[in-house]
Amino acid sequence: MLEQFETKQPIAYKIINNTLNKKHFAHAYLIETNGSDDGFVFALTLAKLILCPKDGQVNCDNCNQCQMIDNGNFPELKIINPDGNWIKKEQLIELQEEFKKKSLIGNKKIYIINKAEKLNINASNTILKFLEEPSEGIIAILITNNIYQLLETIISRCQIISLNGNNDFLNNKTTFEKIGQLLTVTKEEFEVFINDENKKNKISTILKFINYYEKNHKKVLLYMNEYWFNQFNDKESISQAILIIIYFYKDVLNYKINCPIEIFNDHIEEIKNIAELNSIDVLINKIKIYNENRQLLDYNANINLLMDRIIIKMEGV
Ligand SMILES: [Zn+2]
Repeated sequence: MLEQFETKQPIAYKIINNTLNKKHFAHAYLIETNGSDDGFVFALTLAKLILCPKDGQVNCDNCNQCQMIDNGNFPELKIINPDGNWIKKEQLIELQEEFKKKSLIGNKKIYIINKAEKLNINASNTILKFLEEPSEGIIAILITNNIYQLLETIISRCQIISLNGNNDFLNNKTTFEKIGQLLTVTKEEFEVFINDENKKNKISTILKFINYYEKNHKKVLLYMNEYWFNQFNDKESISQAILIIIYFYKDVLNYKINCPIEIFNDHIEEIKNIAELNSIDVLINKIKIYNENRQLLDYNANINLLMDRIIIKMEGV
């Protein structure tokens, strides 16, 4: 029953409840366990909510179908576990063959991939293909205790449900640390900078810039004087401004994967808006591009061309 997670897994509980209210299920879910033991039971609960014919009744659990699911003999639910050390491509091909058959019961089919970090490279690519071309009525639920062993392209196609871990260390480990290797700036460095007395002003200029860029893309290049160079016109101020951008996108990423917002708690609406416009992959890529180009400032890069280069690179051309 979903209720069992209300206090233990409040965020995950809320996500599923919202989904049920909207009566709209994603094609793929990725349950990140963070060391919690709840992953599989949560996945099964989600599967029941999707498959139960009394849809919308959050705590059914006792109809024929729910009972078949609990007993492990519901034909439209397949569970894949590692075969030895790995989940292999053959297991997924077999699954695909079975799912080509017409449903015996209802019109939805679900597969749960337990320990998705054990997908070997061929299996990962096969799953990616499933996720890229989802079939009507087929829903994937992946469970992993290590999201960073999955392909970014798989992660970005799933709705992520991040569980509270039992392990305090993992629980406190924020996205910042997890993607920390991407960045050569430290949080301390950033905090020194945001003590600057003009910080509010700068942050608001930067958020305007980001907002304009996210909605208008390359067109922002026509307005760089207005959105950027009015305020950031020397190496040092540009370097700091890019740092703010990096940390802003990082908080968008935090929001997207249900991790705590670190710095921009006062700008949650902006974070939500930008999160809707970007996949996880794209956000990570933007952070990488800003970070690489910020480093170029140390090598006398032409500051007038730097932002052009960043925008063009982010536009993927
Ligand atoms: Zn039921």
